[in-house]
Amino acid sequence: MSERATLFQTLMTDLNLGKTVQSIIGGVLCDGTGDPITLEDPYTQTTLAVYPDCGADLAAQACEAAALAQVGWAKGTSAARRGEIMQDIATAVKAHVEPLAKMEALIAGKPIRDCRVEVAKVIEMFRYYAGWADKLHGEVIPVPSGHLNYTLREPLGVVFQITPWNAPIFTAGWQIAPAIATGNGVVIKPSELTPVTTVALVKIAEDAGLPKGLVNVLCGFGPTTGQAATQHKAVRKVIFVGSPETGRRVAVAAAQALKPTVLELGGKSANIVFGDANLKHAALGAQAAIFSGAGQSCVAGSRLLVHKSVHAELLDMIATGMNSIKLGDPMDDTTEIGPISNARQFAHVTGMIKGAQGEGANVRTRSELPNTGFFVPPTILAGLNNASTAAQTEIFGPVATAIPFEDEEEAIAIANDTNFGLAGAVWTADLGRAHRMSSAVRAGTFWINSYKAIHVSSPFGGSLNSGFGRSSGTDALMEYTSPKSVWLDSGVTPKIAFGYVS
Ligand code: NAD
Repeated sequence: MSERATLFQTLMTDLNLGKTVQSIIGGVLCDGTGDPITLEDPYTQTTLAVYPDCGADLAAQACEAAALAQVGWAKGTSAARRGEIMQDIATAVKAHVEPLAKMEALIAGKPIRDCRVEVAKVIEMFRYYAGWADKLHGEVIPVPSGHLNYTLREPLGVVFQITPWNAPIFTAGWQIAPAIATGNGVVIKPSELTPVTTVALVKIAEDAGLPKGLVNVLCGFGPTTGQAATQHKAVRKVIFVGSPETGRRVAVAAAQALKPTVLELGGKSANIVFGDANLKHAALGAQAAIFSGAGQSCVAGSRLLVHKSVHAELLDMIATGMNSIKLGDPMDDTTEIGPISNARQFAHVTGMIKGAQGEGANVRTRSELPNTGFFVPPTILAGLNNASTAAQTEIFGPVATAIPFEDEEEAIAIANDTNFGLAGAVWTADLGRAHRMSSAVRAGTFWINSYKAIHVSSPFGGSLNSGFGRSSGTDALMEYTSPKSVWLDSGVTPKIAFGYVS
């Protein structure tokens, strides 16, 4: 067994999991029944584990387990008690930060220091939504008919959550916490490439008091396991985080059974730098926007729009900065950028860079790379316009396309000239301009003199090919509940003829 496979086994034991990857169904760790799935360490490119796809039958059992547990959670557990259990989960996750972060770094190839931050954010998510558990209520509406009319915010029942490989435990916490705070049961399917930290999170939660069966994890492929859960009759809503192509397929499958969806998809966000910006800050911000996480972030600043007066200077600053970024083993505390997370994505990113060269891009990059691993160096593509494939297609790697602009109007036109609408940013000293840009650029999240700041208390989501619906904040509470309008005839006013639904 390789050193990394041994480390994988040690971490499985530390996380109280079995020898291989298993789903959690009704509180029980279960082996899948389908085709084998290989987990590969993206740094050493060696096999960490092989496990069987969960399969449709187990997916159905998970949906049924969630439906059963949800009734006790929503009706038999007070809202305050639900909040207490969620606080206990947060405390339990805090006691497991190191093994969770290590497992994430090992399998997803993310630098360990980023993984620690993401686990800390999961703790924050459970605490934030724990606070909401007993504070979400309806309202009394002064209808004109003499009835007492009030609304209840009811849980949906069972929700099915599908997550990608780029931030597995973060995305799991981000979706599970608001779903259970509002009284839902959950079935979650992490990416088949990075399932373990989601299983570990739910196991830790169950050991901390989460009722068994309330949250079930399916470890398996999308078209088999994922498709079966999407179409299961107990599932009332599908929350999908992933690529636009798969999101469309999932939404169509859900729509066939008239199930609503939330889609959190990709992006091609514009990071816009004006000539009056603090260029040192803007250069650092631009690097963080596209190079951190090896660019495998839905909000990555993948189009760098720079005013022509500072275009050459800013690109030089970024190119110099590239050489001091530490690429290396994700398990090393000092590593700033790890490898691309998997072979498929590595082929896509390197193919996009080659394609850009074919389109005439001037490629600014660094040559030194670690000897093993799916590494792509931080890269800036210059000399292309916004119609180029590199500017229009999500690369999901440490690759920005730099495009010069003349004035505010042109910057806005370029920023909005894609099929996406997820995020964007502006760097400027002019506050008026900053507000004009935040209003004009199509994005669900927009930063001024900053990039990538997010918090569980603030809404997140996009439009067009970036999806629809919102995660995070109070918006997620709305996504995971539906309002019921209750009418009580108080007898004060005789029934009158208007306003009755026929
Ligand atoms: P993907 O679309 O390939 O897979 C996402 C998930 O869908 C995986 O769990 C996969 O197994 C599952 N899946 C595939 N086919 C399915 C099917 N037929 N039915 C049900 N499930 C199915 O995405 P990926 O490559 O894992 O992740 C990268 C993408 O995710 C990028 O486009 C990125 O921008 C996006 N992303 C978006 C956000 C956001 O919040 N907007 C956050 C992170 C990542």
